[in-house]
Amino acid sequence: MPAAKHQDHVWTRRSALTLLAMLPIGFTGIGNAAECVDPASLSAAQKSMRKSLGFRAPSADAAKRCSVCAFFTAAQPGCGKCALLSGGIVPAEGLCDSWAKKG
Ligand code: SF4
Repeated sequence: MPAAKHQDHVWTRRSALTLLAMLPIGFTGIGNAAECVDPASLSAAQKSMRKSLGFRAPSADAAKRCSVCAFFTAAQPGCGKCALLSGGIVPAEGLCDSWAKKG
């Protein structure tokens, strides 16, 4: 029985170390609004649409950002959905050539 207790202890410590090792990756995704969506996960059509709209993030102009665009709907902290991108997720700090001031 003591061996089993030892195994439980080792597993717990290993689990904790694994979780700690994963934290920076998770926080990077959450903390960096420019990474609301993994670019690699976008379909070819989504990539093409973003390119044709000149989408970039972050915006160089603080007054012109997705978060204050008429086509933007907030979805989660730092991220939202763009109607012109068929509801695609964009960072609030992004911008494209079709930006229109929210009324
Ligand atoms: S249309 Fe507006 S919300 Fe959509 S990507 Fe362009 S600036 Fe951002």
